Amino acid sequence: MNITVIGGGYVGLVSGACFAHLGHKVLIVEKVKEKLELLKEGKSPIYEPGLDELLREGLDRELLNFTDSLEEGTEFSEVLFICVGTPSLPDGSPDLSQVDEVVRNVARHMDSYKVFVEKSTVPVHTHERVKGIVRRYLKDKSLEFDVVSNPEFLREGAAVEDFINPDRIVVGVSSERAKGIMEEIYKPLVEKGAPLFITDPASAEIIKHAANSFLAMKISFINMVADLCEATGANVDSVADGIGFDKRIGREFLNAGIGWGGSCFPKDLKAFVRIAKDFSVDFSLLEEVERINERRIDVLMKKLKDALWTLRAKRIAVWGLSFKPNTDDIRDAPSLKVVQRLLKEGAIISAYDPKATENFKRVFVEGQDLGYVEDKYEAVRNAEALLVLTEWEEFKKADLSRIKELMEIPVVVDGRNIYDPNTMKNLGFEYYSIGR
Ligand code: NAD
Repeated sequence: MNITVIGGGYVGLVSGACFAHLGHKVLIVEKVKEKLELLKEGKSPIYEPGLDELLREGLDRELLNFTDSLEEGTEFSEVLFICVGTPSLPDGSPDLSQVDEVVRNVARHMDSYKVFVEKSTVPVHTHERVKGIVRRYLKDKSLEFDVVSNPEFLREGAAVEDFINPDRIVVGVSSERAKGIMEEIYKPLVEKGAPLFITDPASAEIIKHAANSFLAMKISFINMVADLCEATGANVDSVADGIGFDKRIGREFLNAGIGWGGSCFPKDLKAFVRIAKDFSVDFSLLEEVERINERRIDVLMKKLKDALWTLRAKRIAVWGLSFKPNTDDIRDAPSLKVVQRLLKEGAIISAYDPKATENFKRVFVEGQDLGYVEDKYEAVRNAEALLVLTEWEEFKKADLSRIKELMEIPVVVDGRNIYDPNTMKNLGFEYYSIGR
């Protein structure tokens, strides 16, 4: 089947490359010229494990193509996946202007039946707004179309794997014709056992926000348990294991630390709170989830200051800038707040990340008090403390004795609980972690 994907970012590229991998013929519409040039050479502008290989496979099999022309995208297929950004506005509601622009322009150009698929995360009832826009801009008012909600649940860092082996595929649809098209698209995944959950569009839209809010709530919950463990001498890892055995709870998303970030949780939670307010529903539970998360940076900074007394002119190594491992994405990463706080306190930072340094440099320009290095051991040379902000695998496997040798003062504040406290103590580190 021919599929048009609009927006070549984390979701659009992964979805497009995976659809091509499943045998569909895909055209990705991306408006940023620099990204487009890289993509046409089979190179991904983002770091996502396995994506480069899939892009090249798609190009070699002539199943994947790229354009900046929405008109071409509209002609190419009867089904258009909208994968553009929906960032937060100051009041917490999502900025839907990119979705609006795409829908308007497709409506202007279309001359046959189309299915508009919302893959971008959008608030409940957006499908109604999309319908309204299409009707307004259609030149031939007799043309038929459908709007489908098909939220995306992929996790950055494991996006290709998640797309090809999803826990579930959610399709919110109100017409048999569009339902048939969506079933055809996902048939290769369903045949391999992926559950296809068909529902109405409003429920599908809510499912996405509810899923992310629930996961964020789980992390905030365990972080409060971590504070309680610290106050009482218990160990949050053991508590997480102990409750995680319960199938109703599950062990995932129960890792205590410096909190959630990224391009989705912060904005989706804010959007869900906003939606609840708009419909006069008191969902202040989620506001507390957010507040708890904001306080995690204070928890980390307090540990560092307790260890070093003052941060002025102290050499601090920072390991991990991306919001999670295996991605170069730094949107709403805790590292942004931590580095800002460290600079404000007068610390001298040497930062290292396996993939996210270039993105981070665009926000915090290299200067006298902030240097970026290409090697994790270089970052800790002569440092008076090491802060671990992201649980990259290479940090877990680091040569701890070498780190101890390289540091001036062996203080480690581990914001992700990646090391064993006893091992660290035996090696002679002054080691602080979260909730244990
Ligand atoms: P992104 O910023 O990485 O990608 C969006 C892309 O759309 C950009 O490359 C941008 O240039 C392009 N674009 C914008 N307007 C365009 C237009 N008119 N024509 C062509 N291209 C256009 O964003 P993302 O992380 O891929 O997220 C996209 C949506 O998916 C958001 O709503 C997000 O909430 C949702 N989502 C993201 C993830 C994730 O992990 N990143 C997971 C699930 C859902």
